[in-house]
Amino acid sequence: MRNVVIMGSGCAGHTAALYAARANLKPLVVEGHEPGGQLALTTLVENFPGFPEGIQGPELIENMRKQAARFGADYRLGHVVTVDLSKRPFTLSLGKETIQTRTLIIATGASARWLGLPNEQALIGRGISSCATCDGFFFSGKEIAVIGGGDSAMEEALFLTRFATQVTLIHRRGQFRASKIMLDRARAHKKIKFLTDTVVDDVLDVNKKEVTSLRLRNVKTGESWNFPTSAMFLGIGHIPNAKMFEGQLETDQDGYLKTHDYVFTRVPGVYACGDVQDRRYRQAVTAAGTGCMAAIEVEKFLEEQGH
Ligand code: NAP
Repeated sequence: MRNVVIMGSGCAGHTAALYAARANLKPLVVEGHEPGGQLALTTLVENFPGFPEGIQGPELIENMRKQAARFGADYRLGHVVTVDLSKRPFTLSLGKETIQTRTLIIATGASARWLGLPNEQALIGRGISSCATCDGFFFSGKEIAVIGGGDSAMEEALFLTRFATQVTLIHRRGQFRASKIMLDRARAHKKIKFLTDTVVDDVLDVNKKEVTSLRLRNVKTGESWNFPTSAMFLGIGHIPNAKMFEGQLETDQDGYLKTHDYVFTRVPGVYACGDVQDRRYRQAVTAAGTGCMAAIEVEKFLEEQGH
């Protein structure tokens, strides 16, 4: 019987683990299918306080993991297949293994969104990617397209200039969600070109098993054309990893877990933190903040229950 299981090993999960471990609760962290979460896939993080020169995302997340492990957090690779929150203790199934826990912290984060194009799935890993840090290197000396108009797209475009001869940022509108500083940086870069009011209708060439061009369309003029490129990187946001809680916990229209008073779900003893429940801020530092809150609530709950 566990005092607390934490699902997810991103910023929120590690911070919850750190606080729970320091409260002597010996938390078990189930790392999930994307260990480290989104920070593990990013490059330089300049807005996490305490690092005046910035820090690489993978290094930051590894530091958090080590810090929680030092205080006794127990880490396990694997992911939870089903959960039963209908009675306490809660039951989690990890395939062959079943775990019982008095409390649960959900820190499952959010995963990259895809465009849903006819040829997209067939070309993922063959020129289509959602992770510039992971795959950018493969397109050294080639032309790359980046899709999106938020900070992720700007960050990917800037990062990919290290490898590409030219990066074209394609966005479906004329206005950008990206912060001014990121947008200005991308606009000022001589290797980055912008194509606005433009959508991707499909990607070619499945027969060649590589990306050769994108079928683009200007949404204002209706004009369509073939745009030659070797790769398409997506920076169009994320989808919360909350499907497995459907019917047991409340979600909003986009699938984010609904919480009240920051981290409480409607089931006593179950808390949610980080990007799976935050559609507004979605920052590393806010995810860490709610991870801390969830662990503190677990501690209070267990105390009230006499554990
Ligand atoms: P985001 O801000 O939600 O931006 C997603 C972008 O993708 C939007 O421009 C959106 O277009 C576009 N998009 C969504 N679905 C699309 C579709 N089906 N087809 C074409 N375009 C589509 O997501 P994000 O950039 O991943 O950022 C998420 C959060 O993390 C933000 O709070 C951001 O500030 C933060 N972040 C910060 C940094 C940093 O500071 N270094 C880096 C990355 C992310 P519309 O604008 O038309 O909706």
